Amino acid sequence: MDISRRAPKPPQRPLTTTMHDSGTLRRQQPNKPSTPKASDALPLPLYLTNAVFFTLFFSVAYYLLHRWRDKIRNSTPLHLVTLPEIAAIVSLIASFIYLLGFFGIDFVQSFISRASHDAWDLDNHHNFLIEDERDPRRTPPQQPQPAPPHPEPLISTLSSEEDEEIVKSVLVGKIASHSLESQLGDCKRAASIRREALQRITGRSVQGLPLEGFDYASILGQCCEMPIGYVQIPVGIAGPLLLDGFEYSVPMATTEGCLVASTNRGCKAIHVSGGATSTLLRDGMTRAPVVRFASAKRASELKFFVEDPVNFDALSVVFNRSSRFARLQSIHCSLAGKNLYMRFTCSTGDAMGMNMVSKGVQNVLDFLQTDFPDMDVIGISGNFCSDKKPAAVNWIEGRGKSVVCEAIIKEEVVKKVLKTNVAALVELNMLKNLAGSAVAGALGGFNAHASNIVSAIFIATGQDPAQNIESSHCITMIEALNDGKDLHVSVTMPSIEVGTIGGGTQLASQSACLNLLGVKGASKESPGSNSRLLATIVAGAVLAGELSLMSAIAAGQLVRSHMKYNRSSRDMTKISS
Ligand code: ADP
Repeated sequence: MDISRRAPKPPQRPLTTTMHDSGTLRRQQPNKPSTPKASDALPLPLYLTNAVFFTLFFSVAYYLLHRWRDKIRNSTPLHLVTLPEIAAIVSLIASFIYLLGFFGIDFVQSFISRASHDAWDLDNHHNFLIEDERDPRRTPPQQPQPAPPHPEPLISTLSSEEDEEIVKSVLVGKIASHSLESQLGDCKRAASIRREALQRITGRSVQGLPLEGFDYASILGQCCEMPIGYVQIPVGIAGPLLLDGFEYSVPMATTEGCLVASTNRGCKAIHVSGGATSTLLRDGMTRAPVVRFASAKRASELKFFVEDPVNFDALSVVFNRSSRFARLQSIHCSLAGKNLYMRFTCSTGDAMGMNMVSKGVQNVLDFLQTDFPDMDVIGISGNFCSDKKPAAVNWIEGRGKSVVCEAIIKEEVVKKVLKTNVAALVELNMLKNLAGSAVAGALGGFNAHASNIVSAIFIATGQDPAQNIESSHCITMIEALNDGKDLHVSVTMPSIEVGTIGGGTQLASQSACLNLLGVKGASKESPGSNSRLLATIVAGAVLAGELSLMSAIAAGQLVRSHMKYNRSSRDMTKISS
């Protein structure tokens, strides 16, 4: 029996911990938030103190009853007590108080919390009824009230009397908060005033959210509206990742302990085994408008028209007018009755390409309207694209960059670096990533934690984090080689959506991370090569992450390593004070 894979023992207290594939160890709160209990304050393990006091209580009770019977038999007055009897009485009282405190308070607490939850449920139920039924006889919904003031003091960042006046104008509605940038012509000042107005309206401090040290002009009209500050996310470095003969230091923005360390270990295993190899299978961003006709017959006429190779050249000329970099590759149609969904696919150079493809689609729709005047354009996006939603079409057809990345890991590396063995990894992959995901009805989720690595690189390099959904589609294969001595590991990712120009990629920090990878901005020599390289690096890093997490699970190390990296031993009360 492989004892290394045994599940960790459940902890003693009812507060249990759960391990997620994402690598996070979290406290479970099955139905309701756990309330602190008096017993939580005990210095010794609970099972020990319970056992001691139980034993004490029953043994002294037995002793005293025994003594009582003897005294009655010998006609000794009951109030004459010896020293051992006094000690026994004190012990009985002490253990009784302990047991009452422990079980009694729990018992009482269960009633109190049940009552408060019932009240909460009733309140919410009532609110839902008001929302859903719109019954005029019910109490009219309350006007939203600002949250009650927080005890934390509101610290102003305003620098002048003039700013104070503008804050007051925002508060009384004379100046719209969203127009501060255009009215003041100073993005940082606008953010500072908006932030101050927000603090006063809500009565809540945002002191921990930094204001200084950010170029607010760089996000104007591009990345974020109505800024009041920025969130700091640490960037760790994994690598070097040896991919296609080149070394990359991979920046990962994350607050999840263990993730960078684990990916780093995977990079090491790949490096000492000679590196990974990637292949870009296809590169095409998609957009699928939905158009409606009076009949399904008419909708199918347009389908046949756009899918006819004879018409492709004319349509691609119209489409490609949208940008120097947009090149139409295909149009794939699907019908739902009299509604037609046309999935346009095009290459987009180094841009992730959503704007580009949308512009091209608009050109084609305008063009088609001449021959199909009865075509009713319902929406430029009809969800057959499919952007930022789990969808089989991306998993099967691909979206953005489709990449496969592989490595052969030598047996001694599996043992020395990954601390497991080939057979255990192959078996775990089969039962977890393949069979387990099939049991779960997964869609593109045949992997251990691809989204962990994808999200961390996306945030570091200014990609759209919402596209992590389809970009994390991945099937991880782990197969034995050379009679089970070596390991072939691969990740196949059909829809990695990345760009190195546009969106958040041009911001200073994100651009620095792209620069570190050597893929900053648009490639002058070969447009599209930077974004394609970035997609292969994402896949290479996912390969490293998969290898390391799978090994940790196979070796039964997952809980131990998370306790080390996710659980700081620092006294948080001292840090906060
Ligand atoms: P997206 O389509 O990903 O939303 P944007 O439209 O925001 O991207 O940015 C792409 C812009 O960058 C376009 O205006 C395009 O003309 C320009 N551009 C310059 N060089 C390149 C390149 N090599 N690849 C793609 N776009 C480029």
